[in-house]
Amino acid sequence: MDRELKLTAELVPKTSWYNNMRKTVPPRKWDKIRRRTYAEYGHRCGVCGSKGRLNCHEIWHYDDHRHFQELKGFIALCDLCHHVKHIGFAGVLAARGKMDYESVIEHFVRVNDCDWKTFEEHRQEVFDRWSQRSQHQWEVGFGEYEKFKPE
Ligand SMILES: [Zn+2]
Repeated sequence: MDRELKLTAELVPKTSWYNNMRKTVPPRKWDKIRRRTYAEYGHRCGVCGSKGRLNCHEIWHYDDHRHFQELKGFIALCDLCHHVKHIGFAGVLAARGKMDYESVIEHFVRVNDCDWKTFEEHRQEVFDRWSQRSQHQWEVGFGEYEKFKPE
């Protein structure tokens, strides 16, 4: 059902919220990963190409049969693309009046050159997948980034 969307949402299963690189490595090491990623992407967003404040996003692959998730790499993302990735959290922030949810949807629509209905469908799909995945305990692998983990 996912047609070619350039920018997609990817919700981390509830059961894995704290199993990520950022929370695993010491802040100084994370800073290094972050800076290297920004340089790799020419200090632009890896999805929409915009400049400005960047976020270092972890790319995970989920194996839904084995319930094994693996870190595949990092991508530099602008604030809005990052909010789309974590659309669940964006909703929480919006509910607290801390951000404008509509601007996030508008960004999705603009980057993907689609309509609001496509956003709604995609969001629904992503939330369904998220509740499915959140029912399982996931084994986490850091792949080639395992070496970044503290001893
Ligand atoms: Zn972007």
